[in-house]
Amino acid sequence: MGYDVIVVGGGIGGLTVAALLSARGMNTCLLERQSQVGGCIARVEFAGYDFEPGMGLYTSFGPGGIYERLFSELPVDAPEATLLTSPYVVRKADGTDVRSTMDDLYSIAGGPATVAERLAESIKVSGGSVRLNSPVLRLAYDESGRAIGVDLLSGERVFAQRAIISNLTVWDTYGKLVGLNRTPPEIKKHLNALRGRGAYLVYASIGESAVARLPSERMLVEDSQGEFTLAISSGRTVTFQTETDVESWFTYQSSEEEYEEWDQAALEGFWSRLHAALPELGSDVEIIETANPRTFYDLTRRKLGMVLGIEGGAATEGGPSSPTRTWRTFLPNLFMVGDTISSHARLDSVIESAAAFAKSLDNL
Ligand SMILES: Cc1cc2nc3c(=O)[nH]c(=O)nc-3n(C[C@H](O)[C@H](O)[C@H](O)COP(=O)(O)OP(=O)(O)OC[C@H]3O[C@@H](n4cnc5c(N)ncnc54)[C@H](O)[C@@H]3O)c2cc1C
Repeated sequence: MGYDVIVVGGGIGGLTVAALLSARGMNTCLLERQSQVGGCIARVEFAGYDFEPGMGLYTSFGPGGIYERLFSELPVDAPEATLLTSPYVVRKADGTDVRSTMDDLYSIAGGPATVAERLAESIKVSGGSVRLNSPVLRLAYDESGRAIGVDLLSGERVFAQRAIISNLTVWDTYGKLVGLNRTPPEIKKHLNALRGRGAYLVYASIGESAVARLPSERMLVEDSQGEFTLAISSGRTVTFQTETDVESWFTYQSSEEEYEEWDQAALEGFWSRLHAALPELGSDVEIIETANPRTFYDLTRRKLGMVLGIEGGAATEGGPSSPTRTWRTFLPNLFMVGDTISSHARLDSVIESAAAFAKSLDNL
């Protein structure tokens, strides 16, 4: 099969660029390895409950914001988003609560996965293709070394005339799509120097009385071990999230039993932190599931499950300062979008960056 553009990965970055390019009439195909789109914001459902997949902090839905601008170019409506009425509360380590200055937070009807699903719908309405359950193995090259498309795990080759756009992280774009043997040494050096962060999450059900006792449905809690967030969705479920080191989740366990023990120890540690910092939870909260760098790796295939962006500052969109943190790669028709390229690992920032890339594609 041949297309103008192939997008590898149906996270928010890949969906944004594919939706915009298809709306402009480019013959676009998005290839996603999972059975649903969204990547980090894909629907999370356990035991019949729907969970907020992250911290529940969604900004820029207001007039003139990125969502309004993006959907004004697409043949589908933006998801409905409502300004949160309760303030974002920061609980300090001494137990006092402070109202944060973040006053531009929205709740998205149907959760953030709805944004991903609307973009997938837009691609199809514009005549593009969204192929689920289609893991990409690597780039396909012609005899001169030019990338001509991608090879799927199924053995199929899909051709792209104009561009191949990777929604994989910078590490995986080079490590998997390009291949480390083809990656220039100076790029490998940059990749080795970049460090990502991991997330540890507890998805729980929560009783109405505990919700009523908490000062807000979105909180940042500071304690002696750092900080964690809580996001309550639709009154019955809550997602707690904290940062975690990534390597230890992969290196210190040599068997499934060791991994289970490690996961259990992490859960027990985090559970006591939660109850110490938020005594109003009482016994009205019940663990349903956890997520850690290994489960994020399984879900997204991001290297070492690094899902919270890159440490140490903003990327330079299209700029020359780093060969790995721009849309461009050393291959003239291979580009990158996603949260290891955008200035922040946040939905609005990934969309801004992918939309800016879509606009500049003709000049690149
Ligand atoms: C725990 C957590 C909490 C967060 N909280 C917030 C928040 O409150 N507010 C906010 O704005 N942002 C939040 N974020 C950040 C935001 O969700 C992410 O930055 C964003 O969703 C990442 O999008 P992406 O385009 O980089 O792609 P990803 O989500 O990484 O998607 C990449 C896609 O590529 C697919 N893929 C991988 N390999 C292949 C392959 N070989 N072939 C085909 N497809 C492949 C994957 O399955 C995936 O669907 C949070 C993130 C996490 C993890």
